[in-house]
Amino acid sequence: MTHWKTILQNSACTPAALAQHFTIDCNALEQVIATYPMRINSYYLNLIHSIGDPLWKQAVPDLAELCDSVCMHDPLGEEKLSPVPNLVHKYPDRVLFLVASECAMYCRFCTRKRKVGTKRMLITEETIQAGIQYIRENKEIREVLISGGDPLLLSDKRLDSILSRLRAIKTIEVIRIGSRVPCTLPMRINKELVTMLQKHHPLYINTHFNHPRELTVEAEKACTLLANAGIPLGCQTVLLKGVNDNYKTLQTLFTGLLRLRVKPYYLFQTDLTRGTNHFRTHTSSGIAIMRRLIGSISGMAVPTYALDAPGGKGKIPLTPQYINERGDSLRFNNYLGKPCTYPENGDPA
Ligand SMILES: *Cc1c(COP(=O)(O)O)cnc(C)c1O
Ligand code: SF4
Repeated sequence: MTHWKTILQNSACTPAALAQHFTIDCNALEQVIATYPMRINSYYLNLIHSIGDPLWKQAVPDLAELCDSVCMHDPLGEEKLSPVPNLVHKYPDRVLFLVASECAMYCRFCTRKRKVGTKRMLITEETIQAGIQYIRENKEIREVLISGGDPLLLSDKRLDSILSRLRAIKTIEVIRIGSRVPCTLPMRINKELVTMLQKHHPLYINTHFNHPRELTVEAEKACTLLANAGIPLGCQTVLLKGVNDNYKTLQTLFTGLLRLRVKPYYLFQTDLTRGTNHFRTHTSSGIAIMRRLIGSISGMAVPTYALDAPGGKGKIPLTPQYINERGDSLRFNNYLGKPCTYPENGDPA
């Protein structure tokens, strides 16, 4: 198998490189790339069947990225919630700690596209040390979410060093890594990495698949290695117009993930990030899809549909309405649309 570093080196990062595989408008691409970088590694590029397909849309820059002025650079207010650079402290008991600025692919819908993969995201040993010190000094923090960029693009040694320093803090119970690598560069998940990771339990990994065509043999191998190392796997999917915003696609994706021992965790409504507006769906279509999923597939395969409230106000679940009427009895329609009731007083009559 080709080494992951070779696959990453063989990324299409320029219009000319992509033009070797597809007929494209190099001029338009050049304009977008001047603001938001492109990186499509050779593994993910091979998954794209045709121009405009669901994998193309996630990976290839589009002029629409330069056209939305209503959205915000930093919709989640991450900068103002950062007590030290690259660390976001929004909820009292857990922090988001950004330790890497690069990704195996630059997703066009990325919430942090203002800085990921650019010089605007500066991560150094100093910022890492400052983050670790902040975590050590704030005793109410129980969980650290390591993200970026993609933490699994760091070398084993570098990541081991960060994890070891976090593990040395007695108040930290759980470490959670957010990484799209099992989807976008699955060969990065090898025996050496997994052997290192499993020293740092309890460790969770939340990965990010958006389409069933990403569930390849290679992705399955990566997830198996991680799961066999006792690392519980979750998935944070983003609901994307033209990519996965329909029942059939998400049903196939979520049940397929469960088969790979990945628990669908969140289905995210697209954030109000500048440059991503063309991916936004109305929340009513997400809620309608959830309504059809709940009950018709394994409950284990159903994620929480949620939005991340603008300005750093936290995650808000968008749950289908089930209660039609309250009173002595609750009235609902079940997953088949059949009416049913639940008597609060315990009397089924
Ligand atoms: C999403 C997020 C978390 C984690 O939230 P969970 O609901 O526990 O997954 C933590 N911190 C920040 C800043 C976040 O954006
Ligand atoms: S892997 Fe995650 S952080 Fe990186 S570009 Fe994609 S969505 Fe953004």
